[in-house]
Amino acid sequence: MNTHHEIPSYLTPTEIGPWGDYIEQIERVTPYLGSLSRWVETMKRPKRVLIVDVPIERDNGTITHFEGYRVQHNTSRGPGKGGVRFHQNVTLSEVMALSAWMTIKNAAVNVPFGGAKGGIRVDPKTLSLGELQRMTRRYTSEIGIIIGPNKDIPAPDVNTNEQTMAWMMDTYSMNEGSTSTGVVTGKPISLGGSLGRREATGRGVFVVGAEAANTIGLAIPGARIAVQGFGNVGGVSAKLFAEAGAKVVAVQDHAGTVFHENGLDVSALQAYVTAHGSVAGFPGAEEQMSRDNFWDVQCDIMIPAALEQQITESNAHRIRAKIILEGANGPTTPKADDILHDRGILVVPDVIANAGGVTVSYFEWVQDFSSYFWSEDEINQRLTRLMRDAFNSVRHIAEDKKVSLRTAAFLVGCTRVLQARELRGLYP
Ligand code: NAD
Repeated sequence: MNTHHEIPSYLTPTEIGPWGDYIEQIERVTPYLGSLSRWVETMKRPKRVLIVDVPIERDNGTITHFEGYRVQHNTSRGPGKGGVRFHQNVTLSEVMALSAWMTIKNAAVNVPFGGAKGGIRVDPKTLSLGELQRMTRRYTSEIGIIIGPNKDIPAPDVNTNEQTMAWMMDTYSMNEGSTSTGVVTGKPISLGGSLGRREATGRGVFVVGAEAANTIGLAIPGARIAVQGFGNVGGVSAKLFAEAGAKVVAVQDHAGTVFHENGLDVSALQAYVTAHGSVAGFPGAEEQMSRDNFWDVQCDIMIPAALEQQITESNAHRIRAKIILEGANGPTTPKADDILHDRGILVVPDVIANAGGVTVSYFEWVQDFSSYFWSEDEINQRLTRLMRDAFNSVRHIAEDKKVSLRTAAFLVGCTRVLQARELRGLYP
């Protein structure tokens, strides 16, 4: 699959990880790119990779060093944009893949950003609040040389939230000597955040899921939903599907899997997670399932909303869903994509399904620049319209070219990026 010149020398073949999935996805779209395929190597090389050392003083006086990353995959269409992840398994390969998926996503939904992503290899649950703040600030300062409202705009991802963004905004502003709200999105409302941003990714997942269901004649009221990941994305999508009358029959997070044949009470589950840190042990469940049995749950829509490479060649044949709705980035490997396709299961790809977050991040960035803030209704209406249009235009391309929704979304995304690349020309 990957010839040696396509793998940056700083990744050894055993570390290809999610970046390998992304390269395979690019290879699948290349035959459809026409004359733009001359530029396709651009998509296989991140523009800029920054690895930083993040030392902090612990509460007990010792020093700990963490490894941090910020990757700007492509900036042909605008500044870099993408989240920051704090997780013990963060690797360069993962951050590179996540940054590249942001390039495709931002182009596919046509927001004027390139793609970027950041992360720190850390389990934030092992840090005190003070340690977490010091780590976030030192990381922000280290990547401060390449981020900025016109350069690269971070946002929340796994294990980061509005508070993380407030610290990042403050640190960047202190170093600049003036308050710069537009350097990050997903901020608290009182610091220039946007109404509706916290729910935006989950809301987009719901809107696109409802459109996709419509195309296969599946009604949302009564539909059975299984969700992996019950954080910002999975939690909000589950709530919106439940409010629309669907039955959320299974929810899995990092510590447990809960099931109820008649649908879990999503609000009660949310309250339980706030109090206990996980769905594990939720008393309103009919069954506490083993992790692996999640993949056998009979459902209509399965929403992977945790991490990448969850649906693979080893479990794709077991899945009993009509639609896979990708809330997470990169949850389905290319081999699993093929198996699901052969089994007639519709995969709604991440770069469309979870683009609601970056769409409202774009609205937030515009609001910060103009210092004029919109109502929540206006934001949700614009978000809904944009997500529906993006899904339907990708669906028409998929039907027209007889390709998967993923390849169609990559076709739209790569075309926009490479057209910009060609028009700008190579410098010097
Ligand atoms: P989060 O930190 O709010 O929640 C993550 C959830 O995943 C938690 O419930 C956690 O327990 C669960 N989880 C972690 N490891 C797991 C495992 N091994 N098995 C099962 N569950 C596990 O993160 P989030 O912001 O909801 O992000 C989830 C996914 O959505 C990621 O792939 C992220 O890149 C993607 N995403 C997030 C946004 C956003 O705006 N936050 C936007 C687009 C895509």
